[in-house]
Amino acid sequence: MTDIFDTIKDIALNTAKKADTGYKASRLKLSVIALNKMLESQYRELGAAVYKICKNEEAASREECERIAAMTVQIDGIRKRIAVLERRIEYILGLVRCPDCGNTVKMKNAYCSACGRRLAAEEEDVFENENQMTIPKEDV
Ligand SMILES: [Zn+2]
Repeated sequence: MTDIFDTIKDIALNTAKKADTGYKASRLKLSVIALNKMLESQYRELGAAVYKICKNEEAASREECERIAAMTVQIDGIRKRIAVLERRIEYILGLVRCPDCGNTVKMKNAYCSACGRRLAAEEEDVFENENQMTIPKEDV
């Protein structure tokens, strides 16, 4: 009887854990969406600044150059934050990135489904102690 109750308890705990994982991942995904919107508007602003400089067909002023440099630093910061959040989401969802092709693969997978690269740690050498034979006790 306790087995059934334990099983029910396990299922309830796992369901709660999965829901929590989904919730955490969803919240992080919303942050990524917000950051991507920020990134888009930064790119738009940068594009407009560069367009203005090109249209005027004269050398950019020091202020314009500094403004553009500041925008690129901001863009790099946003991109880094997005990359960190994406790695965190993947980790929460039990995914890893293939170091060869960048494809996202389930952590438990031994090989990348896109390029076939081996992902799991090398298996232990089962035959390592093959030559160490056990010596049977001699009968007296
Ligand atoms: Zn791969």
